Amino acid sequence: MRVIAIDGPAGAGKSTVAQAVAERMGFDYLDTGAMYRAVALETLRRGVDPDDAAAVGRIASEIDLRVTGERIFIGVEDVSRKIRSAEVTRAVSLVSTHPEVRTQMVRRQREVAAGRNVVVEGRDIGSVVFPDADAKVYLTASIEERARRRTDQLALDRDLLEEIRTDLWRRDEVDSTRPESPLTRAPDAVEVDSTDKTVEQVVDEIEMLVSGP
Ligand code: C5P
Repeated sequence: MRVIAIDGPAGAGKSTVAQAVAERMGFDYLDTGAMYRAVALETLRRGVDPDDAAAVGRIASEIDLRVTGERIFIGVEDVSRKIRSAEVTRAVSLVSTHPEVRTQMVRRQREVAAGRNVVVEGRDIGSVVFPDADAKVYLTASIEERARRRTDQLALDRDLLEEIRTDLWRRDEVDSTRPESPLTRAPDAVEVDSTDKTVEQVVDEIEMLVSGP
């Protein structure tokens, strides 16, 4: 079992890069953000207050989640697109602060990865979920660049750039200040700034870290 951990703030390009690294190295890919998003979706669907730690924690322990590569299912329903909605994006950071939610998701992430070679992306992968990962990357980019990429990715009007920037900033703030496994660079993670780099360049850099020059 080999694990490549890719952490970093929202919109730094983790998904694109993690999928490309996985493909190039013949590893599986696990998007842990999608798992937190699925819990947030189920919370909203049940009309539960995202701030209600006990109720959201129960959902996290009961939810029938299945992740396969880039798709995620609740029961038999493919929710891969629904978890990307603006409502879910607004609620997910709050849902992810609850300790019981984190305990449940970390347990499931370790189960999914067990015995496989896998690129795992998230916020606390190198620091908490897989502290013994074979390689740890902390992927960043300037907030302006991240907002630009997110706006293009969602095919939104450039007028919304400021709003997207504020949303990213707010999410990073909640994610990095929560007491339980906050977004942080593990001391042994290598920081890769993707601001002025192509996906190809970033993937090359990560491959070099993993395999050596
Ligand atoms: O990566 P993505 O932006 O889809 O993650 C959505 C949210 O899920 C993050 O803003 C964060 O609140 C939460 N998350 C987390 N720990 C992870 C992955 C995601 O708390 N390992």
